[in-house]
Amino acid sequence: SRAPVTVIGLGLMGQALAEALLSAGHPTTVWNRTSAKVDRLVAKGARRAPSEGHALDASPLTIICVTDYRAVRSILGAGERALDGATLVNLTSGSSDQARETAHWAQQRGARYLDGAIMAVPPAIGTPEAVILQAGRAEDLEAHEPTLRALGTITHLGANHGLAALYDSAGLAMMWSVLNAWLQGTALLRTVGVDAATYAPFAQQIAVEVAGWLPGYAEQIDADRFPAEVSALETDVRAMEHLIEESEAAGVSTQLPRMIKAMADRAIAAGHGGEQYPVMIEEFSTPS
Ligand code: NDP
Repeated sequence: SRAPVTVIGLGLMGQALAEALLSAGHPTTVWNRTSAKVDRLVAKGARRAPSEGHALDASPLTIICVTDYRAVRSILGAGERALDGATLVNLTSGSSDQARETAHWAQQRGARYLDGAIMAVPPAIGTPEAVILQAGRAEDLEAHEPTLRALGTITHLGANHGLAALYDSAGLAMMWSVLNAWLQGTALLRTVGVDAATYAPFAQQIAVEVAGWLPGYAEQIDADRFPAEVSALETDVRAMEHLIEESEAAGVSTQLPRMIKAMADRAIAAGHGGEQYPVMIEEFSTPS
C-alpha cells in the first residue's frame, strides 16, 4: 500500500499535485482555506481535513503549495503548533532567503523541511516532464522520494535550502534572455517583411547551437582562464556595434544591444579584450 500524504493549498497547482498523488494510489488528505476547492478533490477520493492542524497530523509527509511564503507561515504557524517528526515539502515559489528562513523556523518546531520549486505547469504534474527541484538534507528527501515521484521528476540540488529558489531564478534569467534576443531579431526582420514565423526556426537553431557552448564555457569560468579559442571579446564587440547600427537604421529598439555592449566595453576597459566571452562573468558578478 502507498504512503499517506497531505496536500495543503488547492489552487491550480495544489489541485494538480493532489490529483497526481490520488492517481498513484496514495491516501491523500487535503486542506484549503476556501472549502469549495476541497469538495472537488473529495469527490475524486481525497480525505477532507477539518483544519490545518488535522491536515498536518494526518500524514507523516505534508506538501504545501500556496501563493507565497507569508501564506505558508500563516497556515503552518496557526496555533504555535509543534511540528515534531513531520516532514514538510514546501513547493510554494519564493526567494532563497525566505526558503532558508522557513527551513530554520520549521526545524525549530521539530519538522524536517525540504524546499522545492516546480518547473512545470499544472497539466504536466504527474508526468516525467514535470521537473521538481528539491533543496534540503538528502536523508529527509530519500525517506519520501517514492511518494514525491508521483508528481514528476525529482531533482535534489543540495542541502542549502535556498538552492531550489536560486535555480528557479537562474532559469528565469535564461528564459527571458532567450526570449528577448529572439524578439530583437524578430523586430529587426519584420521591418523588411519577414514575419515572425519565418524567422522562428532560424532563431531556434541558433539558440540550440549556442546552448551547446555552455559546458565548455563553464569550464573556462570554473578554471578562471579565458583563452580566446574561437573568438576574442574585441571581435564580439564589433559585432555588437553592428547589431546596434542595424537596429538604429531599422528604427527598432537599441536598448538591449546597448546594454550588452556597455558590459563588454567595461570588460575590455578592464583589460579582457583578448579573452573569450565568458570572461564577462566578472561583469555579472559585481553589483551595478
Ligand atoms: P493559485 O492562485 O491558483 O492558488 C493559490 C493558493 O494559495 C490557493 O489554494 C489559496 O487558497 C492559497 N492561499 C493564498 N493565500 C493564502 C492564505 N493567506 N492562507 C491560506 N491559503 C492561502 O496559485 P497556484 O496554485 O497556481 O500557485 C501556487 C504556487 O505554485 C505559487 O507559489 C506559484 O508560484 C507556484 N507555481 C505555480 C505554477 C503554475 O503554473 N500555476 C508553476 C510553478 C509554480 P484559496 O483557495 O482559499 O484562495
